[in-house]
Amino acid sequence: MAIDPSLVCYFRGEYMPLGAAKVGILTHALSYGTGCFEGIRAYYNPDEEQVFLFRVDEHYDRFRQSARILLMQTELSTAELSAITAECIRRSDLHTDVYIRPSVFKSSEIIGVKLHDLEEELYVTVQPFGTYVDIDRALKVQVSSWRRLDDNMVPARAKITGSYINSAFAKSEALLNGFDEAIMLTAEGYVSEASAANLFMLRKGVVSTPPVSENILEGITRETMITLIQDELNVPVIERTIDRTELYAADELFICGTGVQMAAIGSVDHRAVGDGKVGPLVERLQQLYFDVVRGKVPKYRHWCTPVYIGANPGESMDYQANHSNGANGYTNGHADAELPARAEPSLAG
Ligand code: PMP
Repeated sequence: MAIDPSLVCYFRGEYMPLGAAKVGILTHALSYGTGCFEGIRAYYNPDEEQVFLFRVDEHYDRFRQSARILLMQTELSTAELSAITAECIRRSDLHTDVYIRPSVFKSSEIIGVKLHDLEEELYVTVQPFGTYVDIDRALKVQVSSWRRLDDNMVPARAKITGSYINSAFAKSEALLNGFDEAIMLTAEGYVSEASAANLFMLRKGVVSTPPVSENILEGITRETMITLIQDELNVPVIERTIDRTELYAADELFICGTGVQMAAIGSVDHRAVGDGKVGPLVERLQQLYFDVVRGKVPKYRHWCTPVYIGANPGESMDYQANHSNGANGYTNGHADAELPARAEPSLAG
């Protein structure tokens, strides 16, 4: 479904309608994948009529880390990026679940493969968003014939646009073969992660997940799950290498990530996991997770940043950028773009 072009995004230091944010065809990142991005969610809490950004600081810290790995100067702080994001949601007048896609990319329109001495541009987009994969049933997955890229080839801990070709090969192979999702192994043959989600396995009362040295994206949902499983479900979690055939022997398996949220795996390579249905651990964790992200669990409320605050929500957290135009060209003060009236979001959360 086409995205509403009148949603408000942030691009070249200004708030503007999504439909007005364009780049040239020779943009370096388009040719060579030299950009990085984030996927962040905000959740609507109907009781409080509030939209909460979930772990937004952790996402923007990782965003800035990805940019550093790509030899970029991220001039905006995590707090400034969070404030811009909240402002986009407010200006888009979204009162629903939201997906946020920020990116910083090499914007020079030149031919030549490199990372240094290139201009950069930043955008932040927001859009109403529901579920990305079906989370109410257990997924059919296959171990991909594509191996996960290695840290010394393209670092998976940075969320680099070009590296998603690796995920796309695996995901399309799985879908075209009639599966829902792919699990990728490292070059050494250990379990790494799904196409855009981290993996957890329950075996003999212990939950395991591959360590960060197995070419995974260091998922923020992964961290959230580790905390919730240990502290709320009182089940031990260990980070260790996982063999392919342990997946066949697992009691429960699930994948998690900002887009996917969390989804049980019902079979791997045609072998049922447990009884093939959503297991009790995943069921309990799913309930807890969705309460946490909507700000309903006081202990984890600090992970949830409200978008609409105070009597005049439009004014709070407003990012008044007063930076001079930085070397990368995206830190100039924002102009109040003329924004057309927008239709109601078509995708309810
Ligand atoms: N691995 C990959 C390759 C991903 O793209 C994602 C989604 N960002 C994840 C894991 C999960 O990360 P997070 O929980 O931070 O969204």
